[in-house]
Amino acid sequence: MAKQIFLADEAATVSLGRLLADGFIQNKPQHKQGATIFLDGTLGAGKTTFCRGVLSALGHSSAVKSPTYTLVEPYELAAAAVYHFDLYRLADPEELEYMGIRDYFSEASLRLVEWPERGAGILPAPDLNVHFDVSGDGRVATFQTENELGLKMLEAIIK
Ligand code: ADP
Ligand code: MG
Repeated sequence: MAKQIFLADEAATVSLGRLLADGFIQNKPQHKQGATIFLDGTLGAGKTTFCRGVLSALGHSSAVKSPTYTLVEPYELAAAAVYHFDLYRLADPEELEYMGIRDYFSEASLRLVEWPERGAGILPAPDLNVHFDVSGDGRVATFQTENELGLKMLEAIIK
């Protein structure tokens, strides 16, 4: 089931991220393995902007850097541990094995993954996929839920 939202400006993308953070916190007690969100779409489509909204809602107050070269940026926040992945520079999905990808995905953390297609075959499946498209001066976010947790988080976004 795919759902779409139009995001008129940057603030709307940030707000969407904040709502996703709410949905994650509401559903956290039932899901000890945490949650995985895939964020896809071209460069400049709004993926990192969305992550800024998620991180700020969970208590991160300073800047969010794109982990393009480091592949992952960890955030130990009061509300949750968040791992922000940007796999744009990932040459081979196998590299994820060397960085100990399984450890990140085995705890009650929130994983936000930009460019998930670069990790195909190794990256665990997401609970929710958000696809961003440029649309005029704004953006369109398209959601695809993969399971019950994804659906519950989506319900927090689309009320
Ligand atoms: P990505 O991580 O997908 O490459 P970014 O989040 O870095 O993209 O966003 C690129 C640019 O798009 C930023 O300048 C940001 O302010 C802008 N942007 C984000 N969301 C929107 C929106 N809904 N409407 C217009 N511009 C947006
Ligand atoms: Mg980005």
